[in-house]
Amino acid sequence: MQALVWHGKNDVRVDHVQDPILQHDDDILIRVTATAICGSDLHLYRGKVPGLESGDILGHEFMGVIEDAGAGVTDLRRGDRVVVPFTISCGDCFFCDHDLYAACETTNPGRGAIMNAKGVKSGAGMFGYTHLYGGYEGGQAEYVRVPKANTGPIRIPDGLDDERVLFLSDILPTGYQAVLNAEVRPGSTVAIFGAGPVGCMAAACARLQGAARIFVVDHHAFRLQYVRQHYDAETIDFDQVDDPAEWIIEQTGGRGVDASIEAVGFEAKGSAIETALTTMKLEGSSGVALRQAIAATRRGGTVSVAGVYAGFIHGFLFGDAFEKGLTFRMGQTHVQKYLPELLALVAEGRLQPEELISHRLPLAEAARGYAMFDEKIDQCRKVVLRP
Ligand code: NAD
Ligand code: ZN
Ligand code: ZN
Repeated sequence: MQALVWHGKNDVRVDHVQDPILQHDDDILIRVTATAICGSDLHLYRGKVPGLESGDILGHEFMGVIEDAGAGVTDLRRGDRVVVPFTISCGDCFFCDHDLYAACETTNPGRGAIMNAKGVKSGAGMFGYTHLYGGYEGGQAEYVRVPKANTGPIRIPDGLDDERVLFLSDILPTGYQAVLNAEVRPGSTVAIFGAGPVGCMAAACARLQGAARIFVVDHHAFRLQYVRQHYDAETIDFDQVDDPAEWIIEQTGGRGVDASIEAVGFEAKGSAIETALTTMKLEGSSGVALRQAIAATRRGGTVSVAGVYAGFIHGFLFGDAFEKGLTFRMGQTHVQKYLPELLALVAEGRLQPEELISHRLPLAEAARGYAMFDEKIDQCRKVVLRP
């Protein structure tokens, strides 16, 4: 089959690879009908995450039609259309029992990225996300094996196009969890850092929850224009406004927003020194977006972090967070937990994630899709690949 394979930094290619086969009783085999490139794939593409090997198949946001199912698969059958969560979860460990699917302690034979682990088990394995997370083959391919098929893949009713439901796999529940973690309710003020796909889904979900004011910070004019048009957001370009948090505080009675959502991650731009130190591995991550989120949030408010971080950050103003009495919520998304309610919201037309798609390409052109999404060429917001 054809699949998008990582060969090294900024080098991905569609190669001919071995077809996947069922390995366990509760596996299904999917013919992928649509798959997207995620901001998390960009961290891999740029070679910023260890544990990737040349030849690994990427992709964790995908859906398709079941070609084959193991004997232990109970609810799903051949021919069903399903969306697959990016986290692989067993459904019956301690964490799955607590609806903390991204913390599933049975699906990741890799070591994860916790530095000071003291022997705690790794969190859930993930599709196409390095050998730290299990080395599972990804879904930017014609076919993919989906383990733990009794916990996760959700059947899609007829009449809902692929594009309407594809983002249930990752960015939509990620934006939704970020908003629930931020406790956004009717009348809330919220600042979202990052107007990429995750920031956009967070803005959509914040609107749905009745937020009164949504501020969005980024430096790509076309992305800021999109969130103004679609979510009535008030936008700040950090190339033009030196200190967006200060601007947000001025707009909110000198206090700051009820909650901030960080949808950028460890490659945040805006601090040349931190970017250089991170490249030299003297710093774990750029902390600029996190510091902005802390600064923009009012006393007693919440900072909800959806962007990916690993390891340490020196410039993390923990004292500011303490004095303000902030609450922090963060982590990988517990996708399985949110799928039924989000599928219903999409089916009712109350969420229209497909509007985000700016580019549709055949899988064969996936490498071009990566370059466009990475460089924001041609006003790229989100790329969907069709095998
Ligand atoms: P993206 O790279 O397209 O978007 C990130 C946006 O942040 C870009 O538009 C960029 O210009 C902007 N940005 C950079 N520095 C900034 C700064 N200092 N302040 C404000 N904005 C800044 O990616 P995406 O798909 O939107 O993903 C965003 C993050 O969410 C990534 O780190 C990704 O790995 C992570 N993610 C996490 C989960 C999860 O389970 N928690 C799921 C999906 C994605
Ligand atoms: Zn992702
Ligand atoms: Zn589990």
